[in-house]
Amino acid sequence: MKLREFQKKVYDDAKEKGLWDTLTVIGGLHRVLAEVNEAIDEYEDEDRNWYNFRLELADIVLMTMSVAERTSINLESAMIEKYKINLKREYRHGKR
Ligand SMILES: [Mg+2]
Repeated sequence: MKLREFQKKVYDDAKEKGLWDTLTVIGGLHRVLAEVNEAIDEYEDEDRNWYNFRLELADIVLMTMSVAERTSINLESAMIEKYKINLKREYRHGKR
């Protein structure tokens, strides 16, 4: 499955489960932040559980994909475009 198709499926499944019934795009972005915080918590846990950390990283991407689909953004093409932009950056963004 291509990322573009997966993005649509992730959104459609989330919508079917009611995630987007009341959630705004800003609310969706806050969910992304919440998932980042969950990943940080998992990583910082003194009994770090790599399985849980792995799933939280996945949650970050899945929620981001859902927001992208909600806003009709093709995340795959956006990521490739931004990756190419990032490749042109100076070493350490020109900082010493
Ligand atoms: Mg999570």
